[in-house]
Amino acid sequence: MQGKIVALVVAGGTGRRAGGPVPKQFAPAGGKALLHHAAKALASHPKIGAVQVVIHPDYHAEYEAAVAGLTLLPAVHGGAERQDSVRLGLKALEKQKPDYVLVHDAARPFLTHAMIDKLIEALTPSTASVPTLPVADTVRRLKDGKLSDVPREQLLRFQTPQAFPFKTLLELHGTSPAYATDDIALWVAAGKVVKYITGSETLRKVTSADDMAWAQQQANGQMRTSVGSGFDVHAFIEGDGVTVGGIAIAHDKKLDGHSDADVALHALVDAMLGALSEGDIGQHFPPNDARWKGADSAVFVREALKKMHARGGSIEQADITIICEAPKIGPHRDAMRANIAQLLEVPLDYVSVKATTTEQLGFTGRREGMAAQATVTLRLPRGEM
Ligand code: MG
Repeated sequence: MQGKIVALVVAGGTGRRAGGPVPKQFAPAGGKALLHHAAKALASHPKIGAVQVVIHPDYHAEYEAAVAGLTLLPAVHGGAERQDSVRLGLKALEKQKPDYVLVHDAARPFLTHAMIDKLIEALTPSTASVPTLPVADTVRRLKDGKLSDVPREQLLRFQTPQAFPFKTLLELHGTSPAYATDDIALWVAAGKVVKYITGSETLRKVTSADDMAWAQQQANGQMRTSVGSGFDVHAFIEGDGVTVGGIAIAHDKKLDGHSDADVALHALVDAMLGALSEGDIGQHFPPNDARWKGADSAVFVREALKKMHARGGSIEQADITIICEAPKIGPHRDAMRANIAQLLEVPLDYVSVKATTTEQLGFTGRREGMAAQATVTLRLPRGEM
């Protein structure tokens, strides 16, 4: 098979049968939208030159967020039916002068390069290819209260991507009188040749809430757990209060530092950066940089969070221990937890704040300063070697 290959991803649906607050193609699995997984598989394949996504005009913002980091053609708007959306997507792809096109549904997120390879290998200037699977369950027809068996050896389940010679598919879309639920239907109705490829259960279409739970499990298999630790110390100097965990506490001293000297948030940021293997707080926010003079340390937490989001990560747990003789942390612990949970954009029970003295030993025991340590657990996409 020779020629230029492009891909079209249909993501124009507005259905929420999977139970989420957004159409399922924008629902996250393993920190990335289903659409992201589907489009990435195509965009990262060496033989596919360009990927076009068709979306509903109401979901531009969701689209942009979903495909962040991927190189795709600018999205085009779909039509009322799937077939309208495919036709509009093919029209937009015409400019690329492709020889072949793979048409894929965004709701089938776990497409492998091996499957794409098989579909491409089967293409010829007059042959389309499609993944299909047999039906394992017994199938019966229920009509007027009566059951009749349907011979399942005659049945095939059709999946996507479906691969076609581009010009012929575009022509069929221009002339087809009837709506079909996929593109191979038009191809077969026109009497054209199809090569059947063995499909895969992992190409399953995410439709119900059960499917969504399955998709999350699949994606989780592609994630790893990462743990980072952080430690910070600041000295007491003349003053009238400290800020710890973002909470102002009255005290007869303050903490010395370039920023607001929030030991707890600094330890937290170092733990987050540690879990990301992205250096330490001093590297990202140098104390000699005037921007951070007197800075609210929440800024550092938000920056670390942004780095984590850019990596497709999510927080599982943050555990912080504050070490000092005074001031008393206990009365402020709940406020700190609530503040940190809000900063990290996680539920309250993902955040733990503990406190200890050092039994009057060492610098904290002598009330010369405060220390904090933090452990952060993240979920991160598995890297590629
Ligand atoms: Mg510090």
